[in-house]
Amino acid sequence: MILRSAILYASGSRFLRRWVEHSAMARPLTRRFVAGNTMEDAMNVARELQSEGLLASLDTLGEQVTGESDARKAASRYVDAIGRIRSLELPVSVSLKLTQLGLDTAESLAEENLERIAAEGHEKGLRVEVDMEASAYVDRTLALVRRCHRRWGNVRVAVQAYLYRTEEDVRELNREGIPARLCKGAYQEGHSIAWPEKSDVDENYRKLTTLLLEEGTWPAIASHDDRMLAHARKEIVRLKLPPERYEFEMLYGIRRDTQRKLAREGHAVRIYVPYGEAWYPYLMRRMAERPANLLFVLRNWR
Ligand SMILES: Cc1cc2nc3c(=O)[nH]c(=O)nc-3n(C[C@H](O)[C@H](O)[C@H](O)COP(=O)(O)OP(=O)(O)OC[C@H]3O[C@@H](n4cnc5c(N)ncnc54)[C@H](O)[C@@H]3O)c2cc1C
Repeated sequence: MILRSAILYASGSRFLRRWVEHSAMARPLTRRFVAGNTMEDAMNVARELQSEGLLASLDTLGEQVTGESDARKAASRYVDAIGRIRSLELPVSVSLKLTQLGLDTAESLAEENLERIAAEGHEKGLRVEVDMEASAYVDRTLALVRRCHRRWGNVRVAVQAYLYRTEEDVRELNREGIPARLCKGAYQEGHSIAWPEKSDVDENYRKLTTLLLEEGTWPAIASHDDRMLAHARKEIVRLKLPPERYEFEMLYGIRRDTQRKLAREGHAVRIYVPYGEAWYPYLMRRMAERPANLLFVLRNWR
């Protein structure tokens, strides 16, 4: 608890962020969970994963961009990544955050950038996955994804099992044929909108897994939790779903044994691979989720 609080405190420190993101000493810290600083680092990781039968989704790190020009630059990085992925013929999608595309500046700016990326993905035969951020962004994210889906049909959106509203959102997404990626949720949310107890989040996660596998379009079950994975596998067998109808998604560097085991069993497994220089908030979220990860990276820091 103390370690988690310290990590959460550190994650808000701009000074620490600036120092570690630009320190050569930090590279060994990030290696396990972040592909590297450049697009080529990410392509190399995607290629390695492919050789092990794993798919990837590349996340160009960066969130809460404040200016229009940064948001447009972030969109350009995604467009470039899509071109590179296609030229290497890798089994890869891209994952993005709408705040990175300017959602805090103007919804229209984020929409324009998302459209640009989805159009490029559509032309090159690639999927675009939209992460779900804190609860204040959920309505806007779903609205933008809906419009983008109608136009390009290649978007998948993350939904968070800890929010009370998500069951209704999932039912609606299923009705509209919009693919969803189910995760538990990674932000601090109040009791009025999210389950405070982990057991309730887990129960809802199982329920939503069933809903998505029964009625959804190409859902992704994104979890490292053996109990959630066991439930999904049971439902996949019950529903006799072939692997092209669903995916498991896991984060780069986490439960690597399980990732490979699922792939060997014949499931489609996609690994969420972050890369780029702005890796600090991402890494801190992973540490806060599981402080043992901090001990792991510190032990391997050399
Ligand atoms: C592919 C993917 C995409 C995601 N996208 C989003 C998103 O868009 N929005 C969002 O809010 N959240 C997202 N998340 C994060 C998610 O919401 C959770 O915070 C995170 O996955 C931890 O939940 P869990 O289901 O893995 O299990 P938990 O309930 O956190 O943990 C259960 C067990 O899983 C294992 N485990 C979990 N986390 C770790 C870890 N970091 N290191 C090692 N072992 C671990 C441990 O054995 C643990 O006991 C995403 C997660 C994944 C896998």
